[in-house]
Amino acid sequence: MRYIEPHGHMVSRTTDDYLDMVTAGCAAVCEPAFWAGFDRSSADGFHDYFCQLTEHEPRRAARYGLPHYCWLCINPKESEDVKLAEDVIALIPQFLDRPTVLGIGEIGLNKNSRNEVKVLEQHVDLAARHDQLILVHTPHLEDKLKGTRLILDVIKSDSRIRPGRVLIDHVEEHTVKSVLDRGHWAGMTLYPISKCTPARAIDILDVYGGERLWMNSACDWGESVPLAVPRTAFEMRRRGWSAEAVDRVVFQNPVRFLSQCPKFKLPE
Ligand SMILES: [Zn+2]
Repeated sequence: MRYIEPHGHMVSRTTDDYLDMVTAGCAAVCEPAFWAGFDRSSADGFHDYFCQLTEHEPRRAARYGLPHYCWLCINPKESEDVKLAEDVIALIPQFLDRPTVLGIGEIGLNKNSRNEVKVLEQHVDLAARHDQLILVHTPHLEDKLKGTRLILDVIKSDSRIRPGRVLIDHVEEHTVKSVLDRGHWAGMTLYPISKCTPARAIDILDVYGGERLWMNSACDWGESVPLAVPRTAFEMRRRGWSAEAVDRVVFQNPVRFLSQCPKFKLPE
């Protein structure tokens, strides 16, 4: 089996996880910027984090032969402080030309607050000005539908953004259709307790057919499973999906979306 892990917070994981992932057939891992589990106190903390994502973590992954890419932003959980967010957004352009940066993400909303929407708009503007791909985090649980609608409207209101260059992540049964109908890509996050379970993700794939959809583990410092994608691929086979159809979802789809950034290349 071969697969891409399009959303893994590897700075929080051990080298054992890298070894397990390459053993399971992982061909590349992509790491969106996110919350560290605590609020950073200054833009300097983000500067160091962006260096970690663009310099140190690719080197750590390379020891396991795994290409490592990243996305940059200030995540919605910390964007309630608009001044801090603006300082961090001002730092990002100097990193955008680095060889493993794929775009702006994971931006989005957490509590759907006014300040979060304001910072989301600034991120979308940053992506438009620098012609970057966008990766979006949608809020959890009861706020997800409302937050997803708000996010879709912010993106739609910026005419410079082409829908096919935006992936909306953490979709579930009640949000996936609106995302795909707008022409975006949708990501399903396979979590043991929240977001999508493997069974629910495969049900969604059964309904929507696996066009413009991908799956990720979103593994981080919390309860999450770095091998969730290959395990779900195994479950798809058990439920009658062909090897080719599984390959399309776990490998070809992420390659298609990510290759819109010319920097995304897999070793021959
Ligand atoms: Zn994430």
